[in-house]
Amino acid sequence: MTRALHPDTLAVREAVERSQYGENSEALYLTSGYVQPSAEASARRFAGDEDGFTYGRYGNPTVASFERRLAAMEGAEACMSTASGMSAILMMCLGLLKAGDHVICSQSMFGSTIKLIGSDLAKFGVESSFVSQTDVSAWQAAVKPNTRLLFAETPTNPLTEVCDIQALANIAHNAGALLAVDNCFATPVLQKPMRFGADIVMHSGTKYLDGQGRVMAGALCASQQLVTEKFLPVLKSGGMTLAPFNAWVVLKGLETLDIRMRAQTEKAHALAGWLQDHPAVARVYYPGLSSHPQHELAMKQQSGLGGAVLSFDVKASDADQARQRAFHVLDSLQVLSLSTNLGDTKTLCAHPASTSHGRLTEGQRQAAGIGQGLVRVAVGLEHFDDVTADLDRGLSSF
Ligand SMILES: *Cc1c(COP(=O)(O)O)cnc(C)c1O
Repeated sequence: MTRALHPDTLAVREAVERSQYGENSEALYLTSGYVQPSAEASARRFAGDEDGFTYGRYGNPTVASFERRLAAMEGAEACMSTASGMSAILMMCLGLLKAGDHVICSQSMFGSTIKLIGSDLAKFGVESSFVSQTDVSAWQAAVKPNTRLLFAETPTNPLTEVCDIQALANIAHNAGALLAVDNCFATPVLQKPMRFGADIVMHSGTKYLDGQGRVMAGALCASQQLVTEKFLPVLKSGGMTLAPFNAWVVLKGLETLDIRMRAQTEKAHALAGWLQDHPAVARVYYPGLSSHPQHELAMKQQSGLGGAVLSFDVKASDADQARQRAFHVLDSLQVLSLSTNLGDTKTLCAHPASTSHGRLTEGQRQAAGIGQGLVRVAVGLEHFDDVTADLDRGLSSF
């Protein structure tokens, strides 16, 4: 489909061709194999000289529709999907790196990303440095002759720290390296990292792309060359293939991504303001507030929108009381969900210090700014008054 169309049109229209039955909604193709028209055509397809599906691990029409749609929305030439967000990062690393190569990441990345790159890949000789999310000079100082990849996530979980994509792209390109951005929190509705020079955009489709907490999925958007030469070979031998059913669910999720993100962002912004004024709240972390340290940069990169995730610290005299009070807020919820996931139409609340960041030492947590009184809220679509009433039940009864 022509790229001259607007993103909201591509979000509901871009897909592989309809079948001979003329279905309006994209078909779900559940098949692990494909019948070949001739031995010659089969040979050409396996050699990559002709388009055509050969085996379910390598490709599927429903999966291809999801990939084409997401690539169109990110403004990328191509996309390769995977079974989860983490397997997308694994595919990226296996495709781009070898023993002796060096990766620079933000120290505020998603916890499993830090574990995968910092420990699992270290076993195979991949070096890594973890630097401050917001200090551009720290990224520059970490560059070595063997640096091949810079990997950032913006905004981050749970403190919504924002990094300067354009500045990191310049550092990467001057070093002959690539910049990858985990665009899970902002989604292409708010932020298209390629516009700021990113080479690869990584997604956990499990979050906002599905948007209703149903299936796992992941993806890498990049140039056709990177997808064909670096990622497809890993998919073929590594087998982190996205299941057609999951691809179909996320494909349909993309059709409402724009209106969901805008509605959830609007509610999150209102909630951030309400929390900031609450006497029991010490601090709110939300890029849409002018009190956020990278507010201006966030507004520039994120289409003027703060996103749907925020965190706040409850007021307390020490860490024990902070934890007790945060737990009290969470245990007082009657409508919102106590859940560490995010990107759902249902508002999800979590205590990062005892869950996503529970394996860190108290010292590491403090360095990361994750206190015992921190509560993260991934705002859904419930009515604002019901959300504030549910949070206020605990906040006003310490
Ligand atoms: C959830 C998440 C991931 C991992 O995705 P999965 O689909 O759970 O494997 C990576 N990055 C961020 C920012 C996430 O929130």
